[in-house]
Amino acid sequence: MRDFIIHEPDNIGGACSLLLEFGTQARIIAGGTDLLVDLKQHNIEISHLVSLAKIGGLKSITTIGDEIRIGALVSLNEVAESLTVKKRLRALCKAAASMASKQIRNQGTIGGNIASAVPSADLPPALLAAGAHVIITSGESERKVPMSNFFYGPRKTVLAVGEILTQVVIPSIGKKTAIIYKKFKLRGANALAVASVATRITVAGNLIKEGRIVLGAVAPVPMIAELASEMLAGQIPSHNLFFRVAEAAAAEAKPISDIRGSREYRKELIQVLTKQSLDEAFKRATGGGD
Ligand SMILES: Cc1cc2nc3c(=O)[nH]c(=O)nc-3n(C[C@H](O)[C@H](O)[C@H](O)COP(=O)(O)OP(=O)(O)OC[C@H]3O[C@@H](n4cnc5c(N)ncnc54)[C@H](O)[C@@H]3O)c2cc1C
Repeated sequence: MRDFIIHEPDNIGGACSLLLEFGTQARIIAGGTDLLVDLKQHNIEISHLVSLAKIGGLKSITTIGDEIRIGALVSLNEVAESLTVKKRLRALCKAAASMASKQIRNQGTIGGNIASAVPSADLPPALLAAGAHVIITSGESERKVPMSNFFYGPRKTVLAVGEILTQVVIPSIGKKTAIIYKKFKLRGANALAVASVATRITVAGNLIKEGRIVLGAVAPVPMIAELASEMLAGQIPSHNLFFRVAEAAAAEAKPISDIRGSREYRKELIQVLTKQSLDEAFKRATGGGD
């Protein structure tokens, strides 16, 4: 691994200035669980790391009105165990708990999981299903970016040089709504998703008012399966409907074949996970489930 200088600014403005000063030679380091692997494997060559560890205000989970705000440096274990998050978006806690090992979850952060923009990352699908957005700061100004606009390719995001993702904001989820996250991985721990699905359903009377299906690890970015999602609105829930929606979600997926699974296998997985998550989401939205 190449030698590098670690900077530890104690405020956001200082961190942004360092990132601007060193440009492509610098990277933010949060927990380092993605970045250090990349540095060791020479996937990236840089000479400056800008640590966020000493910056206050990035490590808390707060509620403001109906919104939950999660600081970028909140660890994966803290997300998994947060009662505040569990109450509103249990799927995010489950996604965080399904990741890596306890040690990695203590070190890795929600901000790092999102900013690394790995297509199989576990937190983005549940956040997309919830309609979350992120707050990005350049030190001088802030912008609010919906999760659905944040990624534009594998390891590519809208973050510009000098910008830091500071918060993840989850809006009110609403009544009679449930979000379920399902992931398929090849072993119990330390395994990335081969395919994942986050499903959101809102019911009104005997009908599904609206639904959203988000797919992970089967496209260059976590993607909303738009056609499959639209098939749910205004429909009477049934085994047949959920089966057809699951088929449509699999048709929309754009997986590649790699060491963890073939393209065809991933499409099959999407169909199965979508059907299972629709069944569970409907049960939960109508007052059943755990
Ligand atoms: C053994 C192992 C198992 C793993 N298993 C899983 C898994 O099951 N599921 C999964 O999704 N991931 C998994 N990961 C990946 C990783 O642990 C997570 O993505 C973690 O959340 C990354 O967070 P971090 O704080 O360590 O990020 P870092 O490594 O510090 O940073 C990652 C990237 O994001 C950038 N970055 C970090 N924070 C910010 C910020 N606030 N603003 C802007 N840019 C930022 C960094 O510059 C870097 O490019 C695993 C990793 C390992 C080593």
